[in-house]
Amino acid sequence: MNGSLRVAVAGAGLGGLCLAQGLLRAGVDVAVYERDAALDSRRQGYRLHIDARAALALEKCLPPRLFRLFLATAGRPGSTMTVLSGQLRVLYETPTGPSGDPDDPATLSTSVDRRTLREILAAGLEQRVHYGHELAGYEQDPDGVTLRFADGTTTRADVLVGADGVGSAVRRVLLPHARQVDTGTRIIYGKTPLDDATRRLIPSAMYDGFTAIVGGHVGLAAGLVEFRRRPVDAAAAIAPDVHLSPSGDYLMWAVSAQRDRLPAFDGNLAEADPATLHSVACRAIRSWHPDLRALLSAAAVQETFLIRVRSSQRVPAWIPSRVTLLGDAIHTMSPAGGSGANTALMDAAHLCDALTSGSDLVALIGEYEERMRDYGFAAVEASRQAEAETARRRNLLWLWVVDHLPKRRGTGGRTH
Ligand SMILES: Cc1cc2nc3c(=O)[nH]c(=O)nc-3n(C[C@H](O)[C@H](O)[C@H](O)COP(=O)(O)OP(=O)(O)OC[C@H]3O[C@@H](n4cnc5c(N)ncnc54)[C@H](O)[C@@H]3O)c2cc1C
Repeated sequence: MNGSLRVAVAGAGLGGLCLAQGLLRAGVDVAVYERDAALDSRRQGYRLHIDARAALALEKCLPPRLFRLFLATAGRPGSTMTVLSGQLRVLYETPTGPSGDPDDPATLSTSVDRRTLREILAAGLEQRVHYGHELAGYEQDPDGVTLRFADGTTTRADVLVGADGVGSAVRRVLLPHARQVDTGTRIIYGKTPLDDATRRLIPSAMYDGFTAIVGGHVGLAAGLVEFRRRPVDAAAAIAPDVHLSPSGDYLMWAVSAQRDRLPAFDGNLAEADPATLHSVACRAIRSWHPDLRALLSAAAVQETFLIRVRSSQRVPAWIPSRVTLLGDAIHTMSPAGGSGANTALMDAAHLCDALTSGSDLVALIGEYEERMRDYGFAAVEASRQAEAETARRRNLLWLWVVDHLPKRRGTGGRTH
């Protein structure tokens, strides 16, 4: 039944590749069109927090040996979220969820390396992914969709899926009224490779999960990626034909602040090269504990990059058609909640189900969209709250100081 269905996916990001894997497994003729010249042309981040939403989606869409490779290359699971002061005093600790069987997708909560995950997702799709193909627009007719690319070429498909991320060209045509807001937060991401010297600098609290370090107007989020098995070794043992780039363990760090609170102007930052961004990040924490400063100084400087945080506004229901969206293309969210990738992968699995479970495609796409709008925009809202909570935690430091200052008689202090 699916043999004759042709699905075009715009975007070879996490969601687009996962959908392509699932459709291919189900016998659907799928083609992915990616703007970038290659899988790793751009910096897109290093560490991703992955939970059961993503793991169950990957289990559904990936061939079993690629799913085993994903599990083998995941990070050591962590179980705690710790808030530290810039001087490494523990301010707050909270459990982050089940740390059950690391091979059980239903309880997985771990970190993965984004490049490794994308390489696994792209494995076996070599003939299906067309790099250097930027979608410029499309036209729908009763029989299908004509895709137009920036180089003037066109192609036809029965269904078009916009998995083309935050600036989605598909969304611009399908839902021109959809809006994203700039939350004002700027994040400088960096990566410090782990060796004997840098491991000695890592506070013990960072070894079991995610750490937020607060210093008034600036925050630093940090998470280790310690591969359960090195990607190259895991591929050699589980899927020798799959190429995974070599990667060692590292610390991902992210210095965040409102745009006017980083020690440089936003205009400069948006244009800044990695060395400038790295120096801004180091200056932002210049009064913090020497170990934290040393960890940032030891970063792989050329890997530093900036993101401007954007968040989608809820879009009311629209009339379903042969063109649909998944992931950041419809529900962009702050990385604060660690949910964007999880939600994009979940969309991919649900949409794969919809496109392979009957012949009334438009009705099935409509059911997928109805469900996706509910959990997708709920995740956007949760990430907004997580970002607000991050800002509140930065102030925890000041609350802590207020609580521990010797109180003058009659002034009362903070009440709980
Ligand atoms: C630094 C950082 C850290 C993050 N950490 C986490 C985390 O810990 N956990 C989590 O769940 N989420 C996290 N996220 C969010 C997560 O990365 C995204 O939500 C996720 O990548 C969305 O997947 P996607 O497939 O929708 O889009 P993307 O992965 O962004 O893929 C979109 C693809 O479309 C391509 N494209 C764009 N325009 C076109 C076009 N016109 N034609 C063809 N191709 C096009 C792009 O080049 C890209 O390859 C983080 C994000 C960032 C930036």
